[in-house]
Amino acid sequence: MWRGRFAPTPSGLLHLGNAAAALLAWLQIRSMNGEFVLRIEDIDGPRSKAEFARRIPGDLRWLGLDWEEGPDVGGPSGPYIQSQRLGYYGSVLDALDKLGRTYSCYCSRAELAAIASAPHGLASEGPAYPGICKKASKEELAEKAARKTPSVRFELPAEPLAFVDEAAGLQQVPAGAGGDFIVKRADGILAYQLAVVADDAAMGITHVLRGFDLLDSTPRQIWLYQALGWQAPQFAHVPLLLGPDGSRLSKRHGGITLADMRQRQIRPETVLGLIAHAYGLLDRFEPAAAKELIPLFSLQALPKEAVRLSEEDLAAVAYG
Ligand code: GLU
Repeated sequence: MWRGRFAPTPSGLLHLGNAAAALLAWLQIRSMNGEFVLRIEDIDGPRSKAEFARRIPGDLRWLGLDWEEGPDVGGPSGPYIQSQRLGYYGSVLDALDKLGRTYSCYCSRAELAAIASAPHGLASEGPAYPGICKKASKEELAEKAARKTPSVRFELPAEPLAFVDEAAGLQQVPAGAGGDFIVKRADGILAYQLAVVADDAAMGITHVLRGFDLLDSTPRQIWLYQALGWQAPQFAHVPLLLGPDGSRLSKRHGGITLADMRQRQIRPETVLGLIAHAYGLLDRFEPAAAKELIPLFSLQALPKEAVRLSEEDLAAVAYG
């Protein structure tokens, strides 16, 4: 049984770009008669707001999407709100720790930036963590520990990684790419990378379809799956939706939130028809219900490049 999910961070009202990601993930799963999960990813403190989280199910249902499991309907692998799953993430972190794959890190952002920009520093490594606390002696670490609460880093394996993304194609990642990354911040906040892997595994997700901007995170997530001995899902990173000016859709484009559209009585079929046309599922821009699009979905048919909406496209939903 295929299982997919939409996992928004409630950092604002859902907009056309989120709707596109949700629709495509939903279509992929519905076209295989699979099950869909809605999960709210609200652990990155100040960015997430409960009022945005509360609106998400209603906005998605207005579009015509549905799910077998989610914050509003429950389900066997709940809760479906990450801030209610912190104990579970702690146990996954403990498991990584027992496997010897984590270490405490006392380096501050400012210290790392200073090293990276020093004339004979580590600029060639870019922002990758240079492993200072991994290489430090026991005495040095004890001394640092007396002064500071550490963050926790995940130690990357020594091997390069290759994986096939079902939308973006073959990805080849050099060993150590990006450096050992933080799985728990010094302030106790768990990293998105850890929580998303812990949840997709626990919720039995077999297919992750999401925006191209998250392709970069995927090697880290696969490395976590490997370390934990879990099967990674199939990934498909789809092109992002851009405004007529070529920049990523955002508030700046005005009137693009689903809340706005609902208020202005734009029909959900218009919104879906626009997205389906932009992604090549429909030859022309015409209203369509979510269910009508299911048989038209194919990953292979999706565009390879970011999708730019025209002024007219946007005017049909955003200013209509
Ligand atoms: N919560 C993430 C976001 O909204 C997406 C996570 C994912 O799809 O893996 O950017």
